[in-house]
Amino acid sequence: MSPLKIAICGCGPAGLAAALFLARQGHSVQFFERFDAPRPVGSGLILQPTGLGVLSALGLAEEIMQRGAIIERLFGRAHPSGRVVLDVRYAAMAGGWAGLAVHRAALFDVLHEAVNTAGIPIRTSTAVTASKVALGRREIATESGEIIGAFDLVVDAMGARSPLRPQVATSVLTYGALWANVPFTENSGFAANALEQRYFHASRMAGVLPTGAREPGAAPQAAFFWSIRRGDVARWRDNGIARWKDEVGALWPECLPLLEHLRSPDDLTPAHYEHFTLLRPYDDHLAHVGDSAHSTSPQLGQGANMALLDAMALALAMENARNVPEALNHYADLRRWHVRLFQWASAAFTPFYQSDNVILPIVRDRIAAPLSRLPLADALLARLVSGLTVPPLGSGRFVPFQALPGDRAVTQQISY
Ligand SMILES: Cc1cc2nc3c(=O)[nH]c(=O)nc-3n(C[C@H](O)[C@H](O)[C@H](O)COP(=O)(O)OP(=O)(O)OC[C@H]3O[C@@H](n4cnc5c(N)ncnc54)[C@H](O)[C@@H]3O)c2cc1C
Repeated sequence: MSPLKIAICGCGPAGLAAALFLARQGHSVQFFERFDAPRPVGSGLILQPTGLGVLSALGLAEEIMQRGAIIERLFGRAHPSGRVVLDVRYAAMAGGWAGLAVHRAALFDVLHEAVNTAGIPIRTSTAVTASKVALGRREIATESGEIIGAFDLVVDAMGARSPLRPQVATSVLTYGALWANVPFTENSGFAANALEQRYFHASRMAGVLPTGAREPGAAPQAAFFWSIRRGDVARWRDNGIARWKDEVGALWPECLPLLEHLRSPDDLTPAHYEHFTLLRPYDDHLAHVGDSAHSTSPQLGQGANMALLDAMALALAMENARNVPEALNHYADLRRWHVRLFQWASAAFTPFYQSDNVILPIVRDRIAAPLSRLPLADALLARLVSGLTVPPLGSGRFVPFQALPGDRAVTQQISY
């Protein structure tokens, strides 16, 4: 295709990565973002071999590896039994596989710096409200009533509540989470290379995810999260921080020193989740990528990775197509089965960890956990968490990234 005029709406991981890929293909790309200055939202997340593979394809693997913590194990105990009910080790798959936990700002900074270096313009304070096709191209409307066009392609990367996504069946999940970034020291008593969690039935869950230093030389941090019913956030705020810390202490007293600098409910951020999947993540001259195409609870920790994969799939599809409709069709093909599998798996796993169900946590603790430690089951689980259960880009070529260095790495390459 000859160079196209492309609008990217939204400066999250999906939009930033898509812009980089498309600009490198020679297209004229510009951003529209509602914030006054582009900024990251949220706390820590785990970049899996999939998301790292996309960053590696963008030439950004080295930068991101300097700004996070290698995660080799996801580990959780039930309270008060102390039973181990989650134990996923990346090493169950032969090779140097691992996750990289990062402060969300670290991922944002690396992508945003690359966008700036590439000279891709970002128009801020511009909330996109609608979009339509006019004279064979697509235009967007903004909150101030401005109509901007004419684009050969509009990329909707505005997240789960995008005004451009079609209305589809959406379930709003009962449980969300409170999040905070906290200082993390080597003598905190927590492993620096593991995500650790505690559960009481499925109604309480706390997690500590070391996220390393946001930039080289900065102090290491961890993301702390606490499961909370959507409807309980206002009451939690009214009750104050001391009462909440008592609750945390009852579930997991070892966490309390980590939470010392949290002095008011404003130091934590509530998040809630919606679950939906667009079966057709595109329309005329319009591609939905990332959370605007599929959103779910972060139980399997795939969201940002899926967003990065969508961006790469769109670029691969554009590279090989003769026109935009062909490219969009191919984009949907490339991501179809990976997206469906992980959306289904997230929906299936979430009630075991975040729900008011009383039977599922018993099944989790007594049946699923022992089964998951059997040979082969542990490797399958590691592969699921890594995002590698099915080819992430369908028939498109993709090389996941092995994060472990030197002699601990690479005995077996996985390449699709
Ligand atoms: C609490 C929590 C924990 C998570 N943990 C993980 C994890 O461990 N691992 C993982 O992979 N994923 C995790 N996720 C999911 C991950 O954060 C998302 O899947 C990912 O950020 C999606 O990226 P995106 O670019 O599609 O959308 P977003 O990151 O939501 O970015 C959307 C962008 O669009 C902009 N925007 C929105 N509306 C408009 C508008 N009208 N006009 C212009 N701009 C607009 C926003 O300001 C923003 O910049 C978590 C999510 C939450 C909420």
